[in-house]
Amino acid sequence: MSSRRPFIVGNWKMHKTVAETVGYVAEFASHLPSSSSGCDMAIAPPFTALSSAVAAAHGTTLQVFAQNVAAEGPSGAFTGEVSAAMLKEVGCQGVIVGHSERRRYYGETDAVVAMKTRRALDAQLLPIVCLGETLAERESGAALEVIARQLRAITDTLTDADVHRIVIAYEPVWAIGTGQAATPDIAQQMHRHIRAIWEATFGASADTLRILYGGSVTADNIAEFTALSDVDGALVGGASLSPSGFANLVRGALATSPASQGV
Ligand code: PEP
Repeated sequence: MSSRRPFIVGNWKMHKTVAETVGYVAEFASHLPSSSSGCDMAIAPPFTALSSAVAAAHGTTLQVFAQNVAAEGPSGAFTGEVSAAMLKEVGCQGVIVGHSERRRYYGETDAVVAMKTRRALDAQLLPIVCLGETLAERESGAALEVIARQLRAITDTLTDADVHRIVIAYEPVWAIGTGQAATPDIAQQMHRHIRAIWEATFGASADTLRILYGGSVTADNIAEFTALSDVDGALVGGASLSPSGFANLVRGALATSPASQGV
């Protein structure tokens, strides 16, 4: 059984003001079960609320991640961009990179996602690198190959020192925001595939690599995923926006995850 520590991350996307963020963190903390020390938890608010989220979460185990980072850095003429060093300065512990909405709406290629991952690592931020196939890719039988291609773009750029400082999220595009989560069989098969590629590239560090599932995860279905041997937590969009709902989701993950039960 896995000894990997579960990790539950809420991706807020373009939701919540500073005031809403501060209120959320206080309410979330009040709903958390005492067993929540058994897993890692993070929220990823918009850039404008990061600093306030860090201040509000001070003294709790809730971590704050950004949703995006500049591919360039550490500074320069890149209007509208925010560098990894800037995220580190405001107290972020990590950053989501390569989310499918970034790939689809903002044209982020595998190469750009690899550059962003590098920037995060160099700034001592934990990158959560998102991989996922579209419905058309799945229906044409290309899902495994698409994920392998997206993953290799990252592994090709990593050094031995990096391999313990990265989290992967498998997020099938067709499951994001649709209410149609992947089946546990699909999730387990893809997570195993990712771990096998990692093992072929980096050997035993595959045992400690955390791979999160994302795509219509809720408090009602989280247990189906965290019970799987190669699923180490979840990246959660819509269901992370309510503090009580997200706390319930954490509770569901703790109830099933082997590592959080010390086995
Ligand atoms: C996401 O945006 O990363 C996500 C998984 O969204 P949702 O949980 O709403 O499907």
